[in-house]
Amino acid sequence: MLNNSIVMDVSRLLTERKLSQRKIAEVVGVSRGTVCAISSGKRPDYPPRVPTEDESWKPTGPRERCPTCGGKVYMPCRACELRKLQASGKIARRCNHRSGGLLQLDLHPKHQQGYEEMHAKREKAELEKRVAEAGDETSDLASMD
Ligand SMILES: [Zn+2]
Repeated sequence: MLNNSIVMDVSRLLTERKLSQRKIAEVVGVSRGTVCAISSGKRPDYPPRVPTEDESWKPTGPRERCPTCGGKVYMPCRACELRKLQASGKIARRCNHRSGGLLQLDLHPKHQQGYEEMHAKREKAELEKRVAEAGDETSDLASMD
């Protein structure tokens, strides 16, 4: 499933008509095909990926202090598992800013809300910065249509 906020970002940028579809794809971090689909009113909704046996995981009890990373997590600690997989080279290290990018913090609901608001603001500022940067290179605006 395509993140709703991505679709909204793409739609907004398309409406602004400041950037080419290629630039929008670059800035938002999606494929050109996705931008194209959104611009033509189709929203590419892919069925959710079915997790493999290896990936399916259910919490097994109350959260515990992970002896390895010290996080309060459902055991076995997914963060440590992930780090192990990354270290062994089985999966690529990836910094996915667009998947929400929220850290799984153990916060009071009131603080969690504040954190999410702050995070959303930062994401928006970051996107706007990238748009501004991309907008400086006006050379490919000619290929807009
Ligand atoms: Zn851990």
